[in-house]
Amino acid sequence: MKQFSEFEFRTQPWFDQENFEGFNFAIPMKTMVIHCFDPRAADIPQAIAAHFPDEVYPGENVLDEAGNRIGHTRTLFAVSNAGGRAFSALQSVATMEYLFNVQNVIVVHHSFCGATGFRPDQLVEHFHDHHHADISPLIEKDSRAILNFEDSVKHDVQLLRNSPAVPKHVKLYGFFYEMNSGKLTEIVRDIPA
Ligand SMILES: [Zn+2]
Repeated sequence: MKQFSEFEFRTQPWFDQENFEGFNFAIPMKTMVIHCFDPRAADIPQAIAAHFPDEVYPGENVLDEAGNRIGHTRTLFAVSNAGGRAFSALQSVATMEYLFNVQNVIVVHHSFCGATGFRPDQLVEHFHDHHHADISPLIEKDSRAILNFEDSVKHDVQLLRNSPAVPKHVKLYGFFYEMNSGKLTEIVRDIPA
């Protein structure tokens, strides 16, 4: 036993790792939102929850008699990264599919995003010039910068659709968020038949 093993699910007597069927009994998560971590755009998950009628965000903890956090009422999980890019979110989508059976994945890019301030080659050249490192194999070209929002949102929804980390039945949506007005505009929707 390691120091924190008592806090792992695999050491709990009730937990059956080999016959795991999801944590939805504890948290009814069905939707993931991928958005930028720009603090000015931090209200994107709330905006999406207001746009879709049956989403709960932020929700609240569910406690047992002893006050332990055994669940939550949230239905929508948010993943934030630079630009709100699908490329960086694939590990989260695959993990959440295992744990929660994801039904919807929503990509949201926002106005005046820092990723609109450079070209894909400038990111690579900066690292080459300043840090003597080649990051070009690490980040695919179309996920390095946002050259226009329609293309970046469509690209990211297509990247999700083509990725083996995203189950084929998952519904995909792409939005542009104008953060000053709070207006969400749907750019692309990909609902499997
Ligand atoms: Zn941004």
